[in-house]
Amino acid sequence: MADPIIHLLDEETISHIAAGEVVERPASVVKELVENAIDAGASRIRLRVKSDGTGIRQITVIDDGSGMSPEDAHLAFRQHATSKITTAGDLAGISTLGFRGEALASIAAVSEVTLTTRRRDDLAGTRITLSGGMITSVSECAAPPGTTIEVKSLFFNTPARRKFLRTVSTELAHVFDLMERTALSHPELSFQLVHQEKEKFITPGRGDLLETIQGLFGADRARGLIPLAPLRGEIPVVGYVAYPLGSRTNRNQIYISVNGRQITSASLVRAIRDGFGTSLAKGEYPFAVIDCRINPEDVDVNVHPTKREVRFSSDRQVVDAVRTTVWSALTEKSEKEVKIPHATQRPLSGHGEAVLDSSVSHRKPGLSVSEGAATYGRSDQQLRVTEPAGSPTPAPLVSSPALRVLGQVNGTYIIAISDEGELVIIDQHAAHEKIVFDLLQTREGDSSASQQLLVPVKVSLSRKDAALVMDAILDLRSAGFVIEEFGGDSVAVQAVPAGPVKLDDPAEVTSLLLEVIEGIRGPVGERRMRAFKTIACRAAIKGNAYLSQEQMERLVQQLFLAGPPYTCPHGRPAIVRFGSADLEHLFKRR
Ligand code: ADP
Ligand code: MG
Repeated sequence: MADPIIHLLDEETISHIAAGEVVERPASVVKELVENAIDAGASRIRLRVKSDGTGIRQITVIDDGSGMSPEDAHLAFRQHATSKITTAGDLAGISTLGFRGEALASIAAVSEVTLTTRRRDDLAGTRITLSGGMITSVSECAAPPGTTIEVKSLFFNTPARRKFLRTVSTELAHVFDLMERTALSHPELSFQLVHQEKEKFITPGRGDLLETIQGLFGADRARGLIPLAPLRGEIPVVGYVAYPLGSRTNRNQIYISVNGRQITSASLVRAIRDGFGTSLAKGEYPFAVIDCRINPEDVDVNVHPTKREVRFSSDRQVVDAVRTTVWSALTEKSEKEVKIPHATQRPLSGHGEAVLDSSVSHRKPGLSVSEGAATYGRSDQQLRVTEPAGSPTPAPLVSSPALRVLGQVNGTYIIAISDEGELVIIDQHAAHEKIVFDLLQTREGDSSASQQLLVPVKVSLSRKDAALVMDAILDLRSAGFVIEEFGGDSVAVQAVPAGPVKLDDPAEVTSLLLEVIEGIRGPVGERRMRAFKTIACRAAIKGNAYLSQEQMERLVQQLFLAGPPYTCPHGRPAIVRFGSADLEHLFKRR
């Protein structure tokens, strides 16, 4: 008989194969180490990353969790060694992030690891170093309570895997993204990310998701957020959603977790988008941070080697809960903030009508209408840009419904009555944005699109941005920019889109250009539209800008000239109408 051709693999080969499943790239190391820190009950978790031109050199995760005994520190690196489950039955209701007992073994198999750990009550800590999975030294050491794991020379012994790594910046981006996702799924813990000794972010860890979002993405992002409230009878879904900022259409801004475990799920991404209904433009993705609170017994977490995906016992139920929770948060918000500006909070009593009286609605404490000229200056310049040249009162191209402007609320909404007796509320920013966007499209490429700068503005760009500008030069030109290469990574801006910027302000010119190229990345077919959207958003009058009666009338007229659909380029409504039936309903007459 011939020798069998099948044989058992040796330990080392087995561990490399296992490692290949768990440790795809540097970000996978970070994921596993940070999850271990969370499972160890840490309250502060710090990640230090060092990179050079060739790759990520060192990953260090420091936690203040339980620490390990010297015996456990040894066992932790064995394959299938875990403190988190004992029997297969335990798999049915897992409440820790880890449970496979593979991560440390896998990471150690393909790198050089130093573990330093001490339990709070132990006098001494333990330090273990490993290389390619073999322990190279063990010693007692002084250490703060908790665990520090340092990983170097990742994939040094698996050249095939090393070859598949992408550029340093891509790998770093995955690491940052992973850390952001983790921080968002655990607002009760403080996360710090340090790259090359520079702090990239720190979250406060006080359990406030809003604060966490602000710590990660800044105050601008935190401002426009809409909170989700769990719905009765549905799986509880909590978190925040928001319309995309500016022209960001990135689907990577959707952060989903289930019981604090970050996951990827195409069906839940779709459910979130569905919750936005038609208010998102095609191809546009919202910002969302959601956590679904599901009974652990109804979630199977053991379906993916890196635990990135999970399976629900009822997929349908989870998808429905996400969609309806998002939907009802959005509609409730618009009811509170748009539909019923005063009626509910402040019943119309004695001088109630004054709310809709134009002379009153301009007034804010400390600001009287007579200050008009100064206050309205900038808005007026912005409004004029979008008016057809020459005729001050152009003949309507479409029959504009006669709208009588009554006044302005909070410097943001214009209140009017239509000739059909509807109460009409116009969001002045959304309306003007729509007007500018349409205008940009109609004047595409024509000379009125540009305003020549007296002195060209030199803008120094990063190498990447300079390349993007050159890539997008035609799109930028069609939007009104005239740009020339200036040598190195600088460009000279000779003309800018008519309207949005103050001509004498180089900082404004620069920031508009940067904003436009930031938004312009993406599929070629949409580039121009994205540039227009960004410019429109910048050019449009903002909320909180007090307008004169005449300015409001001009704006309303322009909006109707621009024609339907009456939504801003981002898909938000520019106009909300209340017919007599709606009003009767609001006042419970019917
Ligand atoms: P798993 O997390 O699936 O149990 P790991 O290989 O990631 O498997 O870790 C093995 C064991 O090592 C864990 O079960 C835990 O007991 C211990 N451990 C790992 N990291 C830490 C840490 N940061 N603090 C305390 N214990 C840890
Ligand atoms: Mg683990």
